[in-house]
Amino acid sequence: MSTINDTKIALTGDRPTGPLHLGHYAGTLQNRIRLQEEGYRCFVMIADMQAYTDNAYNTAKITAAIPQVVSDYLAIGLDPSRTTIFLQSAVPELAELTMLYMNFVTVSSLERNPTIREELKTRNFERDVPSGFLCYPVSQAADITAFKATCVPVGDDQLPMIELAQEIARKVNRVGGRDILPTPKGLLSKVTRLPGIDGKAKASKSLGNAIFLSDSQQEVRDKVMAMYTDPNHVRVNDPGQVEGNVVFSYLDAFEPDVGKVEDMKRRYRAGGLGDVAIKRELISALEAFLVPIRSQREASNINFRDIINEGTRTARKIAAETTADVKDALGVFRA
Ligand code: ATP
Ligand code: MG
Repeated sequence: MSTINDTKIALTGDRPTGPLHLGHYAGTLQNRIRLQEEGYRCFVMIADMQAYTDNAYNTAKITAAIPQVVSDYLAIGLDPSRTTIFLQSAVPELAELTMLYMNFVTVSSLERNPTIREELKTRNFERDVPSGFLCYPVSQAADITAFKATCVPVGDDQLPMIELAQEIARKVNRVGGRDILPTPKGLLSKVTRLPGIDGKAKASKSLGNAIFLSDSQQEVRDKVMAMYTDPNHVRVNDPGQVEGNVVFSYLDAFEPDVGKVEDMKRRYRAGGLGDVAIKRELISALEAFLVPIRSQREASNINFRDIINEGTRTARKIAAETTADVKDALGVFRA
């Protein structure tokens, strides 16, 4: 017998804090396309509410990024007729669910969340953490469960958030005495965390160390040429290190010819293969990957507001139904 956990529903999203980058593609976007092609009911959320949690004094940045993110979605092949693209802040039911769920989550568990801890460090909040920021994992649980998503394609930084969504779903089901919400599962790709061009563990919009899907040929070249390699690989003939070498991490993610990459790694380790040579290979792999994305971007002249408005209408209906269900399950008085 099939259960609520067997339905093929996927939800994921992006903070509109800037254009999307290669890390997004490697970590989650390519899986979204796959799920769309496999006939999943797909929801992709522009997580503006979440973006405000660390940009409340800079809302113009978020406003500017929203059309960029939609343009990136269309350029990589998300199809609004098969994937519902919607705006988080325009679905107020998500905020309602967040308020209810916050009562099931302790402050100390949020403070222990490893991704939050890492992000607090990179954002230099020190003691002045906005409470909205600390609670964003709860709002992510609301987003996932509102659509009864069973599958959440993400990079590995999001796994602690999915764990929290699972806990909350179980609690709601336990209190309600029936299976209202499925237990969502994270879907990781081959590359779960693409490093930044500066060698930092994660390429990120906020760290300014990413290659964007919308970068020009020249920008891609300049960024690859500036990439962190092996600081001890001074002369071409010196043996080089592949682990932690950003060029090889990107080749692993974007060069489809695995045999060629393995051969390059062998030669680099042995000594005799220079940084410029491996960077040239990467530039051509990235160009081959980005050319169709650029032409798809030019071909798609759909109005981004129309896409968001239509997707949000659909999303709101579903989120409202789930919110009513959850309220009933929790015994919330309904006027
Ligand atoms: P910000 O710096 O504003 O947090 P971000 O670059 O981290 O932006 P998000 O919008 O937070 O991007 O993440 C959207 C999705 O992309 C998430 O599923 C996340 O796991 C994934 N992702 C982001 N950066 C990477 C990366 N470098 N490698 C793999 N996946 C990534
Ligand atoms: Mg992030």
